[in-house]
Amino acid sequence: MIIKPKVRGFVCVTAHPAGCAAHVNEWINHVKSKGPIKNGPKKVLVIGSSTGYGLASRVTAAFGSGAATLGIFYERPSEEGRTATPGWYNTIGFTHAAHAAGLYAKNINGDAFSNEIKAQALETIKKDLGQVDLVIYSLASPRRTHPATGVVHKSVLKPVGVSYTNKTVDTDKGVVSQVTIDPANEQEIADTVAVMGGEDWELWMRALSDAKLLAPGAQSVAYSYIGPEVTWAIYKNGTIGLAKNDLERAARTIDSLLKLNGGGRAFISVNKALVTQASSAIPVVPLYIAILYRIMKAAGTHEGCIEQMQRLFADHLYSARGPVFDEGGRVRVDDWEMRPGVQAGVAEIWPKVTTENLATETDIAGYRSEFLKLFGFGLAGIDYEAEVEPHILMP
Ligand code: NAD
Repeated sequence: MIIKPKVRGFVCVTAHPAGCAAHVNEWINHVKSKGPIKNGPKKVLVIGSSTGYGLASRVTAAFGSGAATLGIFYERPSEEGRTATPGWYNTIGFTHAAHAAGLYAKNINGDAFSNEIKAQALETIKKDLGQVDLVIYSLASPRRTHPATGVVHKSVLKPVGVSYTNKTVDTDKGVVSQVTIDPANEQEIADTVAVMGGEDWELWMRALSDAKLLAPGAQSVAYSYIGPEVTWAIYKNGTIGLAKNDLERAARTIDSLLKLNGGGRAFISVNKALVTQASSAIPVVPLYIAILYRIMKAAGTHEGCIEQMQRLFADHLYSARGPVFDEGGRVRVDDWEMRPGVQAGVAEIWPKVTTENLATETDIAGYRSEFLKLFGFGLAGIDYEAEVEPHILMP
């Protein structure tokens, strides 16, 4: 099969197996180039390990400190005439590379919100690893079937209280327009908190703790975003922001649990806005990212998922002085994004952007090439005209 990108709105419905593997290899090479992370993790559970920040965390743990990793994700393998999802190919690429380096790497593909997948993960840890010393929680999902009630909760990306109007961009067509989003109702708010809040992270950590699968001093981290005022109505103060507040609540509960387990800790890391499958679905945010990329690239401070996670591990999680927390107890690897000079640059460009000047005022080209890379397209050294086998099995 010759595989080309087929972009439909904010998703690409095809993925390139060799390109995805090459993308993972770029990440592995970045982590190796930074040298070993001293006293890093040894046995790591990554929940949401196949793309974005979770995959970058897994690559950092494995190739920065030789950790054994168990990855949990929800991806679709290839079917007749249809490629697999990129996370499937990424994980195959990662697992081959880890095995070649002599590292333990196992995967569980299924619904992380379910009791069944939790039980499978616990069983695998008990049998293969004994205990884990780091748990990364990096799920981004549009829905969750509640394991106790069976109710399917669907998350929404809406403002809270009042409707919100701002600029947005159709990243595929390059059209800048005004979008008005009506506020969420109470049910939508509750559903978004049920999906993206902290309850599931707590269920994972309690299950691991009850089964005595957390090594003394084990740590756990989940990811959040805050961003600048221009996105607050849709992010920080919107439905997703309320879910992230609940994730912070869960971080405090889990932190107490881990403190009692040999002085461990749990916290939230606030990460930079980046092109991922999850962020491309949020209105307004892709336009902000396209402007941000232009400014941070010009300043020489641009980072992707892997640079962010390598910095989180080396400068916070496993640094000799320990993590640096803000007044809310969060680690801020969004610090370079939030620098006043960077944000002043965004604020200056934001009102000026139109469809006509999108290419010059923003880094829409960089946004698009990053987006295609998520699906394995545009990687150096890959012949995209060549036949490639889309049906590849998880090792
Ligand atoms: P992503 O879409 O790239 O990754 C999501 C992961 O979750 C994938 O591995 C996917 O397989 C897995 N997943 C989804 N539903 C699942 C389920 N039911 N069971 C098992 N696995 C499931 O997302 P991302 O952007 O890397 O987001 C990860 C976290 O980082 C989220 O909490 C997000 O809010 C946060 N974050 C993202 C950004 C950003 O700009 N992308 C910025 C800061 C924080």
